[in-house]
Amino acid sequence: MSTIIDFRSDTVTRPSSGMRQAMADAPVGDDVYGDDPTVNRLEAKAAELLGQESGLFVTSGTQGNLLAILTHCQRGEEYIAGTKAHAYLEEGGGGAVLASVQPQPIENRPDGTLDLEAVRTAIKPDDFHLAITRLFCLENTFFGTPLPIDYLSEAKALATEHNLQFHLDGARIFNAAVSGGIAPDAIGRLFDSVSACLSKGLGAPIGSVLTGSQDFIQRARRWRKMLGGGTRQVGILAAAGLYALEHNVERLAEDHEHAARLAEGLGKIEEIEVHPAHQRTNMVFVSLSKSKEECLASFMRDRGILLTVEENPIRLVTHLDIGRKDIDETVDAFKEYFRRAA
Ligand SMILES: *Cc1c(COP(=O)(O)O)cnc(C)c1O
Repeated sequence: MSTIIDFRSDTVTRPSSGMRQAMADAPVGDDVYGDDPTVNRLEAKAAELLGQESGLFVTSGTQGNLLAILTHCQRGEEYIAGTKAHAYLEEGGGGAVLASVQPQPIENRPDGTLDLEAVRTAIKPDDFHLAITRLFCLENTFFGTPLPIDYLSEAKALATEHNLQFHLDGARIFNAAVSGGIAPDAIGRLFDSVSACLSKGLGAPIGSVLTGSQDFIQRARRWRKMLGGGTRQVGILAAAGLYALEHNVERLAEDHEHAARLAEGLGKIEEIEVHPAHQRTNMVFVSLSKSKEECLASFMRDRGILLTVEENPIRLVTHLDIGRKDIDETVDAFKEYFRRAA
């Protein structure tokens, strides 16, 4: 294992030796013919875990969200999403560019929820001047915060009442489930479709799964083909995702403990403000009282600790390549930094 302690994201994990072995040993076939047994197992397993009928292995979370928009909506329709939602803000405008579906952003509250009255108001009446509101998207976890399950139920009721499709960007849905002590399918089954990343806290080198009804996944498969996403003996990669779902879900609790320990340690340093979280998963957000971010990055890099300091607040993400000792070393490095900077 590398000696670098990398807090930039949970996407930086390297496949473990067990995962690499599973990849090497995976039975494969041509997935465009539906012949890859490992892909089929992964898709079935993901669908089951997320409370959906069917699954589709996709290259990334971005591809999963785009496929959801393409499949739920027609050209000239629109999707509702948070102003800070990944599917609105961080995916190159793919819904608008490639699906011809316009976003209707609604401000996220700090806990990631959208005010449901604001959502109701944004739903367009049947008027040919207006786009047709078709899809309502939520994100869970949202910047590390799990959305309350009661809220998700209320949001689903609103979607049903207005005949909207309901999609979850569940890039980190397993963090939400483990942190809340609930089964992932208790969250997933509230939605018409759910995408989940395998390549973040779960530790796979690539891939996401999009899940939904059988009919939905069949239509999404056609769009995936159009996007150049029909791949062949891809069970080699699906094996990593399957291994991740079988071995790395429950252990997310460790990452959450490490984040809590990090938040506690950093919170004792006078110059650091740790942003409060009503329920923390694997992310810690901090602001520094002194604007010393530039030298902070190089100071930490010299000690083998990688941070993204360009953003304020600074986000630190725990994952399976960061151990308890690494957390304590990091807290000590921050203490030393401020002792020197004083
Ligand atoms: C990372 C992320 C995505 C996109 O996943 P990629 O695999 O990086 O394309 C989507 N939504 C959320 C909330 C994410 O954090």
